[in-house]
Amino acid sequence: MTYEPPVTDYDYIVENCTCAFCGCNCDDLDFLVKNGHVVAVRHACRLGASKVMEDMDQRLLVPMVRNEEGVLEEVDWDTALDTAAEYIANSIRPVFYGWSETSTECMKEGVELGEYIGAVLDNQATICHGPSLQAMQNAGYPIQTLGEVKNRADVIAYSGSNAMNSHPRHLARYAAFPRGYFRQRGRFDRTVITMDPKFSDTAKMSDKWIGFEQNGDYGFYNALRAVLKGKKLQSESVSGIPAEDIYELAAEMEAAEFGVLFFGLGLTHTLGKQRNIDIAIKLVQDLNTNSKWGLTPMRGHFNVNGFNIFMAYETGWAFGVDFCRGYGRYMMGETNTIDLLVRKEPDCFMVIAADPGAHFPNGANQHLADIPVIQIDIHWGPSTELADVVLPGSFISVECGGTSYRMDGVPIWMKKAIDKPETCRDDEWIVRELKERVMKLREEPNVADEYVPNEGLACLLDK
Ligand code: SF4
Repeated sequence: MTYEPPVTDYDYIVENCTCAFCGCNCDDLDFLVKNGHVVAVRHACRLGASKVMEDMDQRLLVPMVRNEEGVLEEVDWDTALDTAAEYIANSIRPVFYGWSETSTECMKEGVELGEYIGAVLDNQATICHGPSLQAMQNAGYPIQTLGEVKNRADVIAYSGSNAMNSHPRHLARYAAFPRGYFRQRGRFDRTVITMDPKFSDTAKMSDKWIGFEQNGDYGFYNALRAVLKGKKLQSESVSGIPAEDIYELAAEMEAAEFGVLFFGLGLTHTLGKQRNIDIAIKLVQDLNTNSKWGLTPMRGHFNVNGFNIFMAYETGWAFGVDFCRGYGRYMMGETNTIDLLVRKEPDCFMVIAADPGAHFPNGANQHLADIPVIQIDIHWGPSTELADVVLPGSFISVECGGTSYRMDGVPIWMKKAIDKPETCRDDEWIVRELKERVMKLREEPNVADEYVPNEGLACLLDK
């Protein structure tokens, strides 16, 4: 790594800004501004700083519509919004996907539009912590805030998460290192345990590493629960971990004054999926018989949790909510974006602050190439290549304010620091404009009459 001298050439500093990258939502950043641009960021990790610093060469700056030759062509805002509104108003199975990197205020407009038009609203949880959310709805959710972790926790366990790389300030700001009210000596007052098949960077700085076998999570947690309930293990090792190490770990966890289990996709996406989280929640419930424990998923995008909290509050379902019957419903494998795309059901797709072009499997992207795609985003990406209408938004927490939810469910106001480019608009404004234009179009007769359903829908309608 090369040494980069601190930036000293700036006009002014905007203090206490929030990072719009991972679910830590660090809200102690200083943005150094020169000529209306953020030229440096203080206190952020490298991931956060590199996102906040503007990437103008990839920035989407003007609205675009794909012309008959298949080329994206610059248009004015009215033309772009009207074209997008027509696609939505003429569709009978629209899907609105993304939302994890925009504000909760924008989601509110999106839900109103989705409910009006009968769309499916889904976010990135469908490809990340979806099984965790299912388990939480099954088994409950013994949670605590990150403030409580900082001030009280003496045992921190990471399972299937390499926080040192994915959430670099998590350990420094909230979990392992900070001095808290009851943990004045910081790291010296805490025991850090990593449970992961990989000897990750987080495992390297932990006091204990439990390297169970790949896909051995469920068996390992089962054994730990059995020991906590006073049972004797019947074999010498479980999931590759010697029985005596499991007895020792159970005793250590039970002796905690305040313990926290942070889990990542390494636990959510191994063989047991939601059952892994079910049993982790049960483990924490067992530990609460004699101690005080909580658990928190290590959420990735800064507002992925916001969408799930907001949707659960509004509809009862955290993601994959289908309004096609006039009320919200959810069915795993039926109303999730990838399943819908692979079955070729959607006839219009709006992607906001996400990049399915980069993250979805081929089969799903193939269908996106066949239907109208509307993109609301700030950067050019693989999804732009699939888009028929591109609507350039603004960068929340830098160019516009908005609310996001941290991984522990605490809402954070992200304030504006600089002005957005003149040709861009706020995401909330864009979705509200679309909603109003779609409503106007739907009130006009004959809009849906001219509609010809795509192949997947035609066969559904025949049934
Ligand atoms: S830990 Fe996450 S929220 Fe905090 S500065 Fe780094 S990327 Fe941003």
